[in-house]
Amino acid sequence: SVAGKTAVVTGSNSGIGLGIARSFAAAGMKVVLNSYTDRKEDHALAEELAREHGTEVRYIAADLSDGEAARRLVSEAGSCDVLVNNAGIQHVAAIDEFPTDKWNAIIAINMSSAFHTTAVALPMMRAAGWGRVINIASAHGLTASPYKSAYVAAKHGVVGMTKVVALETAEEPITANAICPGYVMTPLVESQIPDTMRKYDMDRETAVRDVLLQRQPSKEFATTDQLGGTALFLCSDHAAQITGTTISVDGGWTAL
Ligand code: NAD
Repeated sequence: SVAGKTAVVTGSNSGIGLGIARSFAAAGMKVVLNSYTDRKEDHALAEELAREHGTEVRYIAADLSDGEAARRLVSEAGSCDVLVNNAGIQHVAAIDEFPTDKWNAIIAINMSSAFHTTAVALPMMRAAGWGRVINIASAHGLTASPYKSAYVAAKHGVVGMTKVVALETAEEPITANAICPGYVMTPLVESQIPDTMRKYDMDRETAVRDVLLQRQPSKEFATTDQLGGTALFLCSDHAAQITGTTISVDGGWTAL
């Protein structure tokens, strides 16, 4: 059972990370929440989750664009049986207009942070004799869309690194997998709607159905609760032989 295990979930004061943290807390896991801010409401969110589920929840601020800060997050957590690399940002622009600082930030936050946290977490998992690495990649870790060069590159990179971590831990009771969501309604997706409306000169409803959900055959957004359930499954004993692979939660996107 996963009850009592400690999970570090990066980028978890919002969206998918928070959904996963909620599912973990509900299963009796101790959870470390994270984002780059250090506000009263971040710590209050941890207290609220702890109270609601009668488990230990802490918030540790760390800006994951900084590799050393990413490493510090995991060492400060003290133990890390489950590592969820979820923090991510997006920027949408044609490659010849793509700002270099956005490219660098996306590669650092969406990809390199997972390298740094995994490097610190694996020795802790080995010492504990059990571990799960869960990387939140994307359908864009398996396929591409125009105007998302940095994001698609970072997510493909995360899928590749996941396979390497799985091979390096193959004979140990540790697994590494990537979850590849299609569109999930979160603040990150919400913030893409105005750009998409401008780029394609569409109203909101048309932009959502014909652009965002164009490649999601179900024509429905996945939910953060469904992502939490998928992550929890990967922590279960039933998933002990699932390693080095991807699980799509994308309403059929990658079947197209
Ligand atoms: P979100 O914006 O709600 O959450 C992103 C989280 O990352 C937030 O907690 C944010 O504070 C944190 N974060 C951002 N920059 C950070 C930094 N420098 N240091 C630490 N934390 C930082 O977005 P979301 O949709 O929940 O996205 C979560 C993950 O899921 C991302 O990796 C995203 O690429 C991936 N994803 C999302 C969707 C979707 O449709 N929403 C689809 C596929 C993949």
